[in-house]
Amino acid sequence: MTTDRSRRMRLLLSMAGLTVLAATTFQTTGASAASPPALGSAGKSTSGAAAPSLQLPFPCNQQWRLDSWAHAPALDMVKEPNQSGTEGAALVAPAAGTVSQSYWHNNAGNVIQINHGGGWFTTYLHLQSRAVGVGAGVQQGTVIGKVGRTGPTSNNHPHLHFELGYDSNGDGQASWGFSGAERVKAAFNGVTYGSGNNQTFRNVTSRNKCGGNDGGGTGSGPNPRKYMVDIHSAAPGHSSPGGTRTGTLNKGTGYVYCRTRGPKVQVGADYNHWWLKTDLDSGNPWRNQWVSAYYLSRWGNDQAKDNSGNDIRDC
Ligand SMILES: [Zn+2]
Repeated sequence: MTTDRSRRMRLLLSMAGLTVLAATTFQTTGASAASPPALGSAGKSTSGAAAPSLQLPFPCNQQWRLDSWAHAPALDMVKEPNQSGTEGAALVAPAAGTVSQSYWHNNAGNVIQINHGGGWFTTYLHLQSRAVGVGAGVQQGTVIGKVGRTGPTSNNHPHLHFELGYDSNGDGQASWGFSGAERVKAAFNGVTYGSGNNQTFRNVTSRNKCGGNDGGGTGSGPNPRKYMVDIHSAAPGHSSPGGTRTGTLNKGTGYVYCRTRGPKVQVGADYNHWWLKTDLDSGNPWRNQWVSAYYLSRWGNDQAKDNSGNDIRDC
């Protein structure tokens, strides 16, 4: 038992840590610790490629909670509003790439890793099942597996453990699953998550393959940025903030372009000074009309945020 190999494995085990949903630290070897990659002579990566443009790895409009716990920049993801439906949820590729790992890991359970090119990788742990094998090409939105609670470090709690990796040592891989791995903070739909430990992000809405140019724009040009918002009841549309009534924005999930301050709308104790530029569901004209932010489902008085909690940009 006390071979060099077993001592070395114990050392590697003691160096490695993977924290799961309960914020308890478990030991894991991680892939690279279990079989350290040989150091090539190639030296450091010469790639300075920008990170791939990622969307949340779930179908369009699903909402998930992201927690960094004690393992930032890695993120644990559970389904909103109460985690039900997390187990067995479809996991989709956040960007195009080629599957670089798809296997059973004794600590992490079912693992998939996608190589997005330029030294960038995404890694997924604890999956209930894997739908793609090594070498498979995936597009953004391709189903790659199902979320689960496999492997002891899942703490038997269904969640997706997600890591964005960057091959900083240029060996053609990105290690994952332990403090010191080549993992970096990720941005979804342009918003960065997990810069530090103990961060929680509620109701992060997937914009993965939502069609059109939703959410991907810059706020200028022919496809201005849209913010997804939930509307709690049919909202009257106006030609300007508080101006002529022109139509109606229906209850449900819709989009707005930007916000501006205007006349206060008050119903009972609820009020809002913000007005949102949007396209109405009915009316004439219906494009580029205005509704009060009072009608946003998710936010309180004088707030004007999208479903992800991002402030809507000023018009
Ligand atoms: Zn985790």
